[in-house]
Amino acid sequence: MKRPVFVANWKMNLGPTEARAFMKKFLAKYKQHPDRTVVIVPPAVSLTTVVASLGRRKDIIIGVQNIHADAKGAFTGETAAAMARDAGARLALVGHSERRHVFGETDEETAVKCARAFESGLTPLLCVGETLKQRDSGDAASTVLRQLRSGLSRLKDAQPKGILVAYEPVWAIGTGRTATPADAAAMHGALRAELSVLTGSRKDAAAIPILYGGSVTAENSRGLLDAENVEGLLVGGASLDAGKWNAIVST
Ligand code: PEP
Repeated sequence: MKRPVFVANWKMNLGPTEARAFMKKFLAKYKQHPDRTVVIVPPAVSLTTVVASLGRRKDIIIGVQNIHADAKGAFTGETAAAMARDAGARLALVGHSERRHVFGETDEETAVKCARAFESGLTPLLCVGETLKQRDSGDAASTVLRQLRSGLSRLKDAQPKGILVAYEPVWAIGTGRTATPADAAAMHGALRAELSVLTGSRKDAAAIPILYGGSVTAENSRGLLDAENVEGLLVGGASLDAGKWNAIVST
């Protein structure tokens, strides 16, 4: 039985005033669903606003879009994992394709950030995905599995079984092109098999949610969620509209 995880990645949108208005609208519509997990990942400056807007509600988790690999120090403009946790975040996106491809984040930095997230009490959501060039040259699976292995390489003991993974083909992010449910199922199956090897347990690997991300909408969410090994959705653009987001989390 799936317990899907829905993650809204607002990227560099919705500062505190707009975030407050979004939450008011969304919470007025959203009916609590005990059978699913809803996560909202605002920009760092809106974290405390979004947390405050939840009041005593415990059914929605807040995440941070990026953390620095170091614990603290002279890194102007960066957010430390512990600070994000202090602001109310419980989850951290790590290795999002925009971090990898726009900001040049390496596999090694992503690995350190996963470890840092755990150390600071944040659950890492490790994002992996191939570019169109890698897909066209037949390197999609090897790229994605390399990113997975590397992302987990610095974790200790039972930590690997506590992560979440998102498969986000780079060619599908913000482009309107979506992987087909069959494409997603194939890659998620490969990720699940690799997680069995990395955790040393098929049971532990089966419990790790693997989300799909890339141009998800209220119209295509059902088909993607029905695909084998897809246990959730990571949503960018369509999560910026409270009505569309509510329709997706109600899938
Ligand atoms: C994302 O930001 O992770 C994403 C999948 O964006 P979009 O839904 O806009 O493609």
